[in-house]
Amino acid sequence: MSNSTAERAAELREALTRASYEYYSLDRPTMSDAEYDRLFRELQEIERAHPELQAPDSPTLRVGAPPVESFEKHEHMAPMGSLANAFSDEEVDAWHQRAVRVAGDAASASGYSAELKLDGLAVAITYTDGVFALGATRGNGRVGEVVTANLRTVRDIPLRLHGSGHPARMEVRGEVYFPFSAFERLNIERAARGEPPFANPRNSAAGSLRQLDPSETAKRPLRFFGYSIALPDGSAPWGTQSRLLDTLAAWGVPTAPHHAHCVTMADVHAHAHRIEQQLRAELDFGIDGMVVKIESCAVQAELGNIGGREPRWAIARKFAPDIAETRLLDIKVNVGRTGKINPYAVLEPVEVGGTTVRYATLHNFDLIRQKDLRVGDVVQVRRAGEVIPQVLGPVPGKRDAKAPPRPTAMPTHCPACGTLVRVEEKDIFCDNGACPGRQLEAIVHFASRDAMDIDGLSYARVEQLIEAGLVENVADLYELDARRVAELDRFAERSAEALVAAIDASRARPLSRLLFGLGIRHVGTEAATLLARRFGTLEALSGTLNGRAHGRVKAPASSDEVESVHGIGRTIAASVAAYFADPANRALLTRLKESGLRFDEPASAAVGGAFEGMTVVITGTLSTMGRAEAKHRITAAGGKVTDSVSKATSLVVAGEAPGSKLEKARMLEVPVIDEREFVRRLGAGGR
Ligand code: NAD
Repeated sequence: MSNSTAERAAELREALTRASYEYYSLDRPTMSDAEYDRLFRELQEIERAHPELQAPDSPTLRVGAPPVESFEKHEHMAPMGSLANAFSDEEVDAWHQRAVRVAGDAASASGYSAELKLDGLAVAITYTDGVFALGATRGNGRVGEVVTANLRTVRDIPLRLHGSGHPARMEVRGEVYFPFSAFERLNIERAARGEPPFANPRNSAAGSLRQLDPSETAKRPLRFFGYSIALPDGSAPWGTQSRLLDTLAAWGVPTAPHHAHCVTMADVHAHAHRIEQQLRAELDFGIDGMVVKIESCAVQAELGNIGGREPRWAIARKFAPDIAETRLLDIKVNVGRTGKINPYAVLEPVEVGGTTVRYATLHNFDLIRQKDLRVGDVVQVRRAGEVIPQVLGPVPGKRDAKAPPRPTAMPTHCPACGTLVRVEEKDIFCDNGACPGRQLEAIVHFASRDAMDIDGLSYARVEQLIEAGLVENVADLYELDARRVAELDRFAERSAEALVAAIDASRARPLSRLLFGLGIRHVGTEAATLLARRFGTLEALSGTLNGRAHGRVKAPASSDEVESVHGIGRTIAASVAAYFADPANRALLTRLKESGLRFDEPASAAVGGAFEGMTVVITGTLSTMGRAEAKHRITAAGGKVTDSVSKATSLVVAGEAPGSKLEKARMLEVPVIDEREFVRRLGAGGR
């Protein structure tokens, strides 16, 4: 070992101790969690190779931070540990193998509980005979801070547990968190009062809970999820972690969604991927991973803890951080299909949620003003799953001296056509239907893969066609002359012909794709398919309403008739009616009809599919197709897909690692089929 290794270890200890103090005691971190985890790992590795370097006060041996003096102290019934981290499937497998080495086959026999790793603040609530008696933070794991009055203000923590026969004394443990929506609002209010914004939802939760004045805490919409119970004698009468969660839920303690009982490690990995790539984006609270726990409490007891800090029977599978900091280089605007003018951020490229982010939405100018966002600021960017990245706000204390003194002002004219904008609530619109900015978006959408699927119509090309005056709207595409296109820059005769041929081929697309491609507000692929299947032809959908006929494409089927379609609500119906009521749209459709577009849906898709009239819920991961495809195929076979199980659900399709939806289905006696049966039915009913 060289001197420098010892020096590095000391340096890491100091940096981590300082970061922990700022994070836990001040609720004001100066280091990112990813950076903290990286340094923590480095120190752990040095200590593993050189045990003599492990100082007794090393951060690798400690949990959290000592309680702050201003709070009363509370000694926990049993220590509240931390969790070992894993950053890949392989590291989770390695954890599992270690557990098997200690506990043998029993470690895998009972399966695994996979839970969201909530990024909040761990607390313990003491209940005596089912009544909330005391609340404390985790503190250093042994002793926490008493925050009883503050925790009482968290609305979803029951002050009296439901049911009866509760243990005489116990601690319910869980995480206090701050929902994203409320976090943004809180920071806007703080900015308005001239107070520094909170760095992230976790710190705002910790800061809000550790207020000395409970009436301050009461103003903050903190929430709670429970995930563990400690009894004075260390027993665990529920037997498994999943049953413990059910017990909490039965007592009225909220538990986090997307919990899964996994049978194999493959299920565990599949569930982690689904949470990271898909479900995380839908949550209104922060998670930084998934916790995997051995189900059996007896095996948990046998496995015990490592060095008093972390249990051997659980592991935190960390995800790539979905919040990162970067510089806001510019604020630009684009004009959407509907004329809505959207501000967006041009960012210094930054790695977040597993990809490089260069642009992010800023929603509207009102929010830019409220968040006091200025070009040049260091900002926080959030990206989860497939959602468009968003700018949460400027990072406190990092404003560039060169930043302009005021946030960017709302434009008064459309940036694409110069028309005076119309202000509607917090948004601004360009009402010029022929605005080249709007048409560009409309044509690109029309040509997109799920719509008319026209190969080669990229943004750049559509922009070029509009600028050259060759197209103004989607109907013009079908009148394009390959020779004129070939004269444009970057087009050769061959590519011009290929483009015209691709446009030509799109005439044969079924009505469902055309309906989606038209960009009718609220009509996504699913609604377009439902409408096409129900009405069969565009003429029937746009059919006579009170005998009124305008031009060749007529006014719509009455919006009641549209609304009566299974799966179509009032908003969509009204939007469809408004679309067909507009003479400009009818004129466009008449031109498309004259260009020979197919205005009907193939008969095979329009008659009774395998899921005709059914409301279907999918849970777990399907191995033969993605979620989007499964949804599409159910819709195409006459069904409707919803997210949660209720009495109205006709059928649940359960893939691997199904979540709580499966339990709910069983409770409500909703029929459940597995993936094999699902695929069979799809095959039997045709696509
Ligand atoms: P941890 O966050 O890695 O894991 C343990 C905690 O996970 C538990 O205490 C509990 O609060 C929480 N948890 C969430 N969901 C859970 C569930 N379903 N079941 C069980 N527990 C659940 O460990 P830690 O000791 O709280 O904190 C270490 C982490 O905190 C670091 O990895 C780092 O990300 C962050 N940190 C950051 C800084 C910084 O300066 N940025 C400093 C210190 C710590």
